[in-house]
Amino acid sequence: MIIDCHTHVLDAGFWPREWFDHVAADWAGRAPGRRPEMVRHRVEPGLLDPDGDRMVAAMDRAGVDAAVLLPWDWGPDFHARASVERVNEHALAVAARHPGRIIPFAGVDPRRPGAAELVERFLRDGPAYGVKLYPACGWDPAGPAAQAVYDVCQSFDVPVLFHTGHPLPLLDDPGDPLQLLPVVRRNPALRVWLGHAGAPDGFDACLAVAAASERVSLELSVWLWSDSTAADVERLASRVVAARDSVGIGRLLFGSDHVSGPRTRGESFLPTVVDLFTSLPDAARRIGHRITGDEMNAMLGRNAARQLHWTVPTSSVGRQ
Ligand SMILES: [Zn+2]
Repeated sequence: MIIDCHTHVLDAGFWPREWFDHVAADWAGRAPGRRPEMVRHRVEPGLLDPDGDRMVAAMDRAGVDAAVLLPWDWGPDFHARASVERVNEHALAVAARHPGRIIPFAGVDPRRPGAAELVERFLRDGPAYGVKLYPACGWDPAGPAAQAVYDVCQSFDVPVLFHTGHPLPLLDDPGDPLQLLPVVRRNPALRVWLGHAGAPDGFDACLAVAAASERVSLELSVWLWSDSTAADVERLASRVVAARDSVGIGRLLFGSDHVSGPRTRGESFLPTVVDLFTSLPDAARRIGHRITGDEMNAMLGRNAARQLHWTVPTSSVGRQ
């Protein structure tokens, strides 16, 4: 069983105009005579997968049984056409369209008025299985607004996935995982998933946060990408071994950060990342360590299923 703990499925208007301005300016800068307004309209369609059908097709190709879908609220500093309610309801609708394949989370910026009540509604009525939060959008994870969201998550016993590590270019917060230390110390019952496990240079900081609470897990997306080399896999293998030996294999989760739009990651992205991840035991052997098949099964799906109280239906599609 493979559960991908970090994916995104987008519909139109979900990401803010500031993002599309940024990408259009970047594209325009790459060709002489090209101006942002000439390419801006082409940016968003490349991100979109309105029904999640492309995501599920990619999961089928990659042998992924179920994927955690993370709606992302950029918060009040950015301007998206879709409301936060719409973005979250879309995740639930994609999950309903693909029974047993999509595990929807909720995503609500804690600065939104009534954020905690909104999160509670999605967890109760969705149901959403967890909450994705992105502090680099401009809020303090140790502040009172965020705490109100954590309280709801604790009462539902669902994880909060924090983005950690380098943020998207528009966001200038470095995403230091250590800013979560006071959060996990104050909330020992809160399940925390450290999204991207601090990539590319915050892994040790994430381990320090995980050492402070046995309810903290490291979600390993971004460390492997479609162009990763054998040396990259060996580096991740050594990090996995270090994490296993300090906090236990039960706290490591496979994730890809796949985005299913037609011009985003590419057709081969998810199968390639899954193949690279499943080659971790070979990479570990090359550097004089051992990662067992049982440990792989734990990281690839069993840990997530346990924490999410998720059972994969027997009819779901796996790799042939
Ligand atoms: Zn992501």
